Amino acid sequence: MAQHPLPDGLHPDTLAVRTATDRSQYGENSEALYLTSGFVQPNAELSARRFGGEEDGYTYGRTGNPTVTSFEQRLAAMEGTEAAMATASGMAAVMLMCFSLLRAGDHVIYSQSMFGSTMKLIGSEFARFGVDSTSVPQTDVAAWRAAIRPNTRLLFAETPTNPLTEVCDIAALADMAHDAGALLCVDNCFATPALQRPVTLGADIVMHSGTKFLDGQGRVMAGALCAPEAMVRDKFLPVQKNSGMVLSPFNAWVVLKGLETLGIRLKAQSEAAHTFAQWLEAHPAVARVHYPGLPSHPQHALAMRQMSGVGGAVLSFDVKADSPEQARARAFHVLDSLRVLSLCTNLGDTKTLLAHPASTSHGKLSEAQRQAAGIGQGLIRVAVGLEHLDDMKADLLRGLDTL
Ligand SMILES: *Cc1c(COP(=O)(O)O)cnc(C)c1O
Repeated sequence: MAQHPLPDGLHPDTLAVRTATDRSQYGENSEALYLTSGFVQPNAELSARRFGGEEDGYTYGRTGNPTVTSFEQRLAAMEGTEAAMATASGMAAVMLMCFSLLRAGDHVIYSQSMFGSTMKLIGSEFARFGVDSTSVPQTDVAAWRAAIRPNTRLLFAETPTNPLTEVCDIAALADMAHDAGALLCVDNCFATPALQRPVTLGADIVMHSGTKFLDGQGRVMAGALCAPEAMVRDKFLPVQKNSGMVLSPFNAWVVLKGLETLGIRLKAQSEAAHTFAQWLEAHPAVARVHYPGLPSHPQHALAMRQMSGVGGAVLSFDVKADSPEQARARAFHVLDSLRVLSLCTNLGDTKTLLAHPASTSHGKLSEAQRQAAGIGQGLIRVAVGLEHLDDMKADLLRGLDTL
Protein backbone atom coordinates (compact mmCIF):
# COMPACT_ATOMS: atom_id res chain seq x y z
CA MET A 1 0.00 0.00 0.00
CA ALA A 2 1.68 3.22 -1.11
CA GLN A 3 1.89 5.76 1.64
CA HIS A 4 2.13 9.51 1.79
CA PRO A 5 5.72 10.31 2.78
CA LEU A 6 6.06 12.12 6.11
CA PRO A 7 6.32 15.91 5.73
CA ASP A 8 9.70 17.55 6.38
CA GLY A 9 10.54 19.26 9.64
CA LEU A 10 8.85 16.88 12.07
CA HIS A 11 10.18 16.85 15.64
CA PRO A 12 12.26 13.92 16.94
CA ASP A 13 9.37 12.85 19.24
CA THR A 14 7.13 12.48 16.19
CA LEU A 15 9.79 10.72 14.12
CA ALA A 16 10.31 8.26 17.00
CA VAL A 17 6.69 7.14 16.69
CA ARG A 18 6.08 7.53 12.95
CA THR A 19 9.23 6.69 10.95
CA ALA A 20 9.05 3.19 9.41
CA THR A 21 8.79 1.37 6.10
CA ASP A 22 5.42 1.41 4.28
CA ARG A 23 2.47 -0.49 5.76
CA SER A 24 1.64 -3.82 4.13
CA GLN A 25 -1.54 -4.32 2.06
CA TYR A 26 -3.38 -5.04 5.34
CA GLY A 27 -2.91 -1.54 6.69
CA GLU A 28 -1.61 -2.57 10.12
CA ASN A 29 -1.17 0.47 12.41
CA SER A 30 1.57 -1.03 14.58
CA GLU A 31 4.60 -1.91 12.43
CA ALA A 32 4.58 -5.48 11.12
CA LEU A 33 7.06 -8.09 12.29
CA TYR A 34 8.41 -9.86 9.19
CA LEU A 35 9.72 -13.00 10.83
CA THR A 36 11.19 -14.61 7.72
CA SER A 37 14.70 -15.50 6.58
CA GLY A 38 13.96 -15.61 2.84
CA PHE A 39 11.84 -13.53 0.43
CA VAL A 40 9.94 -15.01 -2.54
CA GLN A 41 10.95 -13.37 -5.81
CA PRO A 42 8.23 -12.29 -8.27
CA ASN A 43 10.19 -13.61 -11.27
CA ALA A 44 13.69 -14.75 -12.21
CA GLU A 45 14.59 -11.53 -14.03
CA LEU A 46 13.75 -9.33 -11.03
CA SER A 47 15.50 -11.80 -8.73
CA ALA A 48 18.66 -11.49 -10.82
CA ARG A 49 18.46 -7.70 -10.76
CA ARG A 50 17.95 -7.63 -6.97
CA PHE A 51 20.88 -9.96 -6.37
CA GLY A 52 22.97 -7.85 -8.74
CA GLY A 53 22.17 -4.73 -6.71
CA GLU A 54 20.47 -3.03 -9.71
CA GLU A 55 17.03 -3.07 -8.11
CA ASP A 56 15.88 -2.54 -4.52
CA GLY A 57 14.08 -5.48 -2.95
CA TYR A 58 14.54 -8.01 -0.20
CA THR A 59 16.15 -11.37 -1.00
CA TYR A 60 17.62 -13.01 2.09
CA GLY A 61 17.72 -12.14 5.79
CA ARG A 62 21.45 -11.50 5.94
CA THR A 63 21.18 -8.66 3.42
CA GLY A 64 18.02 -7.00 4.71
CA ASN A 65 14.55 -7.34 6.24
CA PRO A 66 11.70 -4.76 6.28
CA THR A 67 11.34 -4.81 10.09
CA VAL A 68 15.08 -4.23 10.44
CA THR A 69 14.84 -1.43 7.86
CA SER A 70 12.09 0.23 9.92
CA PHE A 71 14.32 0.21 12.98
CA GLU A 72 17.25 1.61 10.96
CA GLN A 73 15.15 4.39 9.43
CA ARG A 74 13.62 5.36 12.77
CA LEU A 75 16.91 5.47 14.67
CA ALA A 76 18.60 7.44 11.86
CA ALA A 77 15.73 9.95 11.92
CA MET A 78 16.10 10.35 15.67
CA GLU A 79 19.90 10.78 15.53
CA GLY A 80 19.65 13.11 12.53
CA THR A 81 21.83 10.96 10.26
CA GLU A 82 21.02 10.03 6.66
CA ALA A 83 21.09 6.31 7.37
CA ALA A 84 21.78 3.59 9.92
CA MET A 85 22.80 -0.05 9.90
CA ALA A 86 21.44 -2.39 12.57
CA THR A 87 23.65 -5.07 14.12
CA ALA A 88 23.16 -8.07 16.41
CA SER A 89 24.52 -6.22 19.46
CA GLY A 90 26.40 -3.07 20.42
CA MET A 91 29.71 -4.91 20.16
CA ALA A 92 28.76 -6.16 16.68
CA ALA A 93 28.34 -2.48 15.74
CA VAL A 94 31.87 -1.69 16.97
CA MET A 95 33.16 -4.74 15.10
CA LEU A 96 31.37 -3.75 11.89
CA MET A 97 32.69 -0.19 12.06
CA CYS A 98 36.31 -1.25 12.64
CA PHE A 99 36.15 -3.95 9.96
CA SER A 100 34.63 -1.55 7.45
CA LEU A 101 36.81 1.52 8.02
CA LEU A 102 40.23 0.28 9.16
CA ARG A 103 43.12 -1.62 7.64
CA ALA A 104 46.58 -2.73 8.81
CA GLY A 105 48.75 0.30 9.49
CA ASP A 106 45.87 2.54 10.59
CA HIS A 107 45.71 4.13 14.04
CA VAL A 108 42.74 4.62 16.38
CA ILE A 109 42.49 6.87 19.46
CA TYR A 110 39.96 5.98 22.13
CA SER A 111 39.24 7.03 25.69
CA GLN A 112 40.62 4.84 28.47
CA SER A 113 37.26 4.91 30.26
CA MET A 114 35.31 3.35 27.40
CA PHE A 115 33.19 0.24 27.64
CA GLY A 116 35.58 -2.63 28.50
CA SER A 117 34.78 -4.84 25.50
CA THR A 118 35.30 -1.90 23.12
CA MET A 119 38.78 -1.31 24.53
CA LYS A 120 39.61 -5.03 24.32
CA LEU A 121 38.34 -5.34 20.75
CA ILE A 122 40.34 -2.37 19.44
CA GLY A 123 43.34 -2.52 21.77
CA SER A 124 43.90 -6.30 21.64
CA GLU A 125 41.95 -8.06 18.88
CA PHE A 126 42.44 -5.51 16.09
CA ALA A 127 46.09 -5.08 17.14
CA ARG A 128 46.57 -8.68 15.90
CA PHE A 129 45.65 -7.45 12.43
CA GLY A 130 48.06 -4.52 12.49
CA VAL A 131 45.71 -1.75 13.65
CA ASP A 132 47.51 0.50 16.15
CA SER A 133 45.71 2.30 18.92
CA THR A 134 46.29 4.76 21.77
CA SER A 135 44.02 5.17 24.78
CA VAL A 136 43.83 8.61 26.40
CA PRO A 137 42.15 10.17 29.46
CA GLN A 138 38.51 10.80 28.53
CA THR A 139 38.24 14.46 29.51
CA ASP A 140 41.75 15.66 28.51
CA VAL A 141 41.39 17.29 25.06
CA ALA A 142 45.15 18.00 24.92
CA ALA A 143 45.89 14.30 25.41
CA TRP A 144 43.64 13.39 22.47
CA ARG A 145 45.44 15.97 20.33
CA ALA A 146 48.89 14.75 21.38
CA ALA A 147 47.96 11.20 20.38
CA ILE A 148 47.18 12.14 16.75
CA ARG A 149 49.51 10.56 14.16
CA PRO A 150 49.66 10.84 10.37
CA ASN A 151 47.93 7.43 10.12
CA THR A 152 45.13 8.22 12.63
CA ARG A 153 41.82 7.27 10.95
CA LEU A 154 39.37 7.17 13.83
CA LEU A 155 38.70 8.89 17.16
CA PHE A 156 36.26 6.88 19.26
CA ALA A 157 34.60 8.42 22.34
CA GLU A 158 31.80 7.45 24.67
CA THR A 159 30.04 10.15 26.65
CA PRO A 160 28.97 9.97 29.42
CA THR A 161 31.10 6.94 30.33
CA ASN A 162 30.33 3.93 32.43
CA PRO A 163 30.34 3.94 35.47
CA LEU A 164 31.85 7.34 36.42
CA THR A 165 29.76 9.40 33.93
CA GLU A 166 32.80 11.30 32.61
CA VAL A 167 31.84 13.67 29.80
CA CYS A 168 34.01 14.61 26.81
CA ASP A 169 33.68 17.58 24.48
CA ILE A 170 32.18 16.15 21.27
CA ALA A 171 32.59 19.35 19.21
CA ALA A 172 36.27 19.72 20.17
CA LEU A 173 37.02 16.09 19.30
CA ALA A 174 35.13 16.39 15.99
CA ASP A 175 37.20 19.43 14.96
CA MET A 176 40.39 17.65 15.97
CA ALA A 177 39.47 14.52 14.00
CA HIS A 178 38.56 16.47 10.87
CA ASP A 179 41.75 18.57 11.01
CA ALA A 180 43.66 15.27 11.03
CA GLY A 181 41.63 13.75 8.18
CA ALA A 182 40.07 11.26 10.59
CA LEU A 183 36.50 10.39 11.62
CA LEU A 184 34.87 10.78 15.04
CA CYS A 185 32.55 8.04 16.29
CA VAL A 186 30.55 8.58 19.49
CA ASP A 187 29.02 5.73 21.52
CA ASN A 188 25.72 7.40 22.44
CA CYS A 189 24.45 4.56 24.61
CA PHE A 190 24.09 6.51 27.89
CA ALA A 191 22.53 9.76 26.64
CA THR A 192 20.64 8.39 23.60
CA PRO A 193 19.24 10.74 20.91
CA ALA A 194 16.55 11.73 23.43
CA LEU A 195 19.20 13.85 25.21
CA GLN A 196 22.21 14.14 22.89
CA ARG A 197 22.62 14.07 19.11
CA PRO A 198 26.38 13.83 18.43
CA VAL A 199 26.13 14.60 14.68
CA THR A 200 24.76 18.07 15.48
CA LEU A 201 28.07 18.63 17.32
CA GLY A 202 30.17 17.38 14.39
CA ALA A 203 30.51 13.62 14.99
CA ASP A 204 30.57 11.46 11.84
CA ILE A 205 29.25 8.16 13.22
CA VAL A 206 26.98 7.38 16.19
CA MET A 207 27.28 3.90 17.65
CA HIS A 208 24.54 2.30 19.78
CA SER A 209 23.98 -0.66 21.99
CA GLY A 210 20.25 -1.06 21.41
CA THR A 211 20.30 -3.50 24.31
CA LYS A 212 20.17 -0.61 26.77
CA PHE A 213 17.83 2.41 26.65
CA LEU A 214 16.66 1.92 23.04
CA ASP A 215 14.94 -1.34 23.97
CA GLY A 216 14.35 0.14 27.39
CA GLN A 217 12.82 -2.91 29.04
CA GLY A 218 15.78 -5.27 29.19
CA ARG A 219 14.48 -7.79 26.65
CA VAL A 220 16.80 -8.17 23.65
CA MET A 221 20.32 -7.55 22.37
CA ALA A 222 20.71 -5.07 19.50
CA GLY A 223 23.12 -2.51 18.09
CA ALA A 224 23.46 0.06 15.32
CA LEU A 225 25.74 2.48 13.49
CA CYS A 226 24.17 5.78 12.39
CA ALA A 227 26.12 7.47 9.58
CA PRO A 228 25.95 9.19 6.19
CA GLU A 229 24.14 7.22 3.47
CA ALA A 230 27.29 6.72 1.39
CA MET A 231 29.22 5.27 4.34
CA VAL A 232 26.40 2.86 5.21
CA ARG A 233 25.96 1.76 1.58
CA ASP A 234 29.59 1.60 0.45
CA LYS A 235 31.46 0.68 3.65
CA PHE A 236 29.16 -1.02 6.18
CA LEU A 237 26.74 -2.91 3.92
CA PRO A 238 29.35 -4.90 1.93
CA VAL A 239 30.99 -6.11 5.17
CA GLN A 240 27.66 -6.77 6.89
CA LYS A 241 26.40 -8.86 3.94
CA ASN A 242 29.40 -11.16 4.14
CA SER A 243 29.96 -11.26 7.88
CA GLY A 244 26.39 -11.79 9.10
CA MET A 245 26.39 -9.71 12.29
CA VAL A 246 22.76 -8.90 11.46
CA LEU A 247 19.99 -7.99 13.87
CA SER A 248 17.18 -10.54 14.02
CA PRO A 249 13.79 -9.21 12.81
CA PHE A 250 12.20 -10.06 16.16
CA ASN A 251 14.81 -8.09 18.11
CA ALA A 252 14.52 -5.23 15.59
CA TRP A 253 10.76 -5.12 16.15
CA VAL A 254 11.14 -5.05 19.95
CA VAL A 255 13.63 -2.17 19.80
CA LEU A 256 11.59 -0.37 17.11
CA LYS A 257 8.66 -0.28 19.53
CA GLY A 258 11.01 0.68 22.37
CA LEU A 259 12.08 3.79 20.44
CA GLU A 260 8.48 5.08 20.59
CA THR A 261 8.74 5.61 24.34
CA LEU A 262 12.46 6.50 24.54
CA GLY A 263 11.83 10.23 25.03
CA ILE A 264 9.37 9.92 27.89
CA ARG A 265 11.34 7.13 29.57
CA LEU A 266 14.59 9.10 29.48
CA LYS A 267 12.81 12.18 30.80
CA ALA A 268 11.18 10.36 33.72
CA GLN A 269 14.21 8.18 34.54
CA SER A 270 16.60 11.17 34.35
CA GLU A 271 14.38 13.24 36.65
CA ALA A 272 14.36 10.40 39.17
CA ALA A 273 18.14 9.92 38.81
CA HIS A 274 18.69 13.64 39.47
CA THR A 275 16.61 13.59 42.68
CA PHE A 276 18.30 10.36 43.69
CA ALA A 277 21.78 11.83 43.10
CA GLN A 278 20.99 14.90 45.24
CA TRP A 279 19.65 12.68 47.99
CA LEU A 280 22.69 10.38 47.91
CA GLU A 281 25.09 13.34 47.95
CA ALA A 282 23.57 14.40 51.28
CA HIS A 283 23.69 10.91 52.83
CA PRO A 284 26.31 10.53 55.62
CA ALA A 285 27.43 7.05 54.44
CA VAL A 286 28.19 8.27 50.91
CA ALA A 287 31.64 9.69 50.08
CA ARG A 288 30.96 10.89 46.54
CA VAL A 289 28.29 10.88 43.84
CA HIS A 290 29.12 10.86 40.11
CA TYR A 291 26.27 12.38 38.11
CA PRO A 292 26.53 14.93 35.25
CA GLY A 293 23.41 16.75 36.46
CA LEU A 294 25.02 17.75 39.77
CA PRO A 295 27.05 20.99 40.00
CA SER A 296 29.73 18.90 41.79
CA HIS A 297 30.39 16.94 38.55
CA PRO A 298 33.71 18.08 36.99
CA GLN A 299 32.18 18.54 33.50
CA HIS A 300 28.74 19.69 34.69
CA ALA A 301 28.55 22.78 32.42
CA LEU A 302 29.71 20.90 29.32
CA ALA A 303 27.30 18.04 30.07
CA MET A 304 24.37 20.42 30.39
CA ARG A 305 25.25 22.01 27.01
CA GLN A 306 25.64 18.67 25.23
CA MET A 307 22.80 16.74 26.87
CA SER A 308 19.81 19.09 26.59
CA GLY A 309 20.30 20.26 30.16
CA VAL A 310 19.63 16.77 31.53
CA GLY A 311 22.04 14.53 33.45
CA GLY A 312 20.80 11.16 32.20
CA ALA A 313 19.46 8.12 34.04
CA VAL A 314 22.72 6.55 35.26
CA LEU A 315 24.74 7.59 38.29
CA SER A 316 27.30 6.01 40.57
CA PHE A 317 28.42 6.64 44.14
CA ASP A 318 31.19 5.64 46.56
CA VAL A 319 30.35 4.44 50.04
CA LYS A 320 32.58 5.86 52.78
CA ALA A 321 35.29 3.50 54.02
CA ASP A 322 38.81 3.48 55.48
CA SER A 323 40.27 0.73 53.29
CA PRO A 324 39.52 -1.07 50.00
CA GLU A 325 38.51 -4.19 51.98
CA GLN A 326 36.04 -2.26 54.10
CA ALA A 327 34.73 -0.43 51.02
CA ARG A 328 34.04 -3.73 49.25
CA ALA A 329 32.31 -5.21 52.32
CA ARG A 330 30.14 -2.10 52.69
CA ALA A 331 29.19 -1.99 49.00
CA PHE A 332 28.29 -5.68 49.15
CA HIS A 333 26.18 -5.05 52.26
CA VAL A 334 24.21 -2.32 50.46
CA LEU A 335 23.67 -4.54 47.42
CA ASP A 336 22.75 -7.64 49.44
CA SER A 337 20.17 -5.63 51.42
CA LEU A 338 18.08 -4.86 48.31
CA ARG A 339 14.57 -6.35 48.24
CA VAL A 340 13.05 -4.48 45.30
CA LEU A 341 15.82 -3.18 43.03
CA SER A 342 17.93 -5.63 41.01
CA LEU A 343 21.58 -6.56 41.36
CA CYS A 344 22.22 -6.72 37.60
CA THR A 345 25.03 -5.43 35.36
CA ASN A 346 22.72 -4.32 32.54
CA LEU A 347 21.38 -0.74 32.30
CA GLY A 348 18.66 1.21 30.53
CA ASP A 349 15.80 -0.89 31.90
CA THR A 350 12.51 0.29 33.43
CA LYS A 351 13.64 -1.73 36.47
CA THR A 352 16.34 0.00 38.54
CA LEU A 353 19.58 -1.98 38.28
CA LEU A 354 22.55 -1.76 40.63
CA ALA A 355 26.03 -3.10 39.96
CA HIS A 356 29.43 -3.30 41.63
CA PRO A 357 31.84 -2.41 38.80
CA ALA A 358 35.06 -3.38 40.65
CA SER A 359 33.97 -7.03 40.86
CA THR A 360 32.02 -7.28 37.58
CA SER A 361 32.54 -5.06 34.51
CA HIS A 362 35.99 -3.97 35.76
CA GLY A 363 36.82 -7.17 37.66
CA LYS A 364 39.56 -8.27 35.27
CA LEU A 365 41.66 -5.13 35.82
CA SER A 366 44.48 -5.13 38.38
CA GLU A 367 43.88 -3.09 41.55
CA ALA A 368 46.38 -0.50 40.20
CA GLN A 369 44.50 -0.20 36.88
CA ARG A 370 41.22 0.14 38.77
CA GLN A 371 42.70 2.88 40.98
CA ALA A 372 43.89 4.72 37.84
CA ALA A 373 40.41 4.42 36.34
CA GLY A 374 38.81 5.64 39.60
CA ILE A 375 36.82 2.43 40.03
CA GLY A 376 37.09 1.86 43.80
CA GLN A 377 35.83 -1.15 45.76
CA GLY A 378 33.14 1.05 47.31
CA LEU A 379 31.68 2.19 43.97
CA ILE A 380 28.08 1.27 43.17
CA ARG A 381 26.42 2.06 39.83
CA VAL A 382 22.71 2.80 39.72
CA ALA A 383 20.79 2.70 36.42
CA VAL A 384 17.57 4.35 37.54
CA GLY A 385 14.28 2.85 36.34
CA LEU A 386 10.63 3.75 36.73
CA GLU A 387 9.77 2.52 40.23
CA HIS A 388 8.43 5.12 42.69
CA LEU A 389 11.27 7.23 44.09
CA ASP A 390 10.24 6.59 47.70
CA ASP A 391 10.46 2.83 47.16
CA MET A 392 13.89 3.16 45.52
CA LYS A 393 15.19 5.23 48.44
CA ALA A 394 13.75 2.88 51.05
CA ASP A 395 15.38 -0.09 49.33
CA LEU A 396 18.82 1.55 49.29
CA LEU A 397 18.43 2.88 52.84
CA ARG A 398 18.01 -0.67 54.13
CA GLY A 399 21.72 -1.18 53.48
CA LEU A 400 23.07 2.38 53.72
CA ASP A 401 21.57 3.02 57.16
CA THR A 402 22.87 -0.24 58.64
CA LEU A 403 26.55 0.10 57.68
C1 LIG B 1 26.45 -2.35 26.72
C2 LIG B 1 27.32 -1.38 26.08
C3 LIG B 1 28.00 -1.69 24.88
C4 LIG B 1 27.94 -3.05 24.24
O1 LIG B 1 26.66 -3.36 23.80
P1 LIG B 1 26.09 -4.87 23.74
O2 LIG B 1 24.73 -4.67 23.16
O3 LIG B 1 26.12 -5.43 25.11
O4 LIG B 1 27.00 -5.62 22.81
C5 LIG B 1 28.78 -0.70 24.31
N1 LIG B 1 28.89 0.53 24.87
C6 LIG B 1 28.27 0.85 26.02
C7 LIG B 1 28.43 2.22 26.59
C8 LIG B 1 27.46 -0.09 26.66
O5 LIG B 1 26.86 0.24 27.82
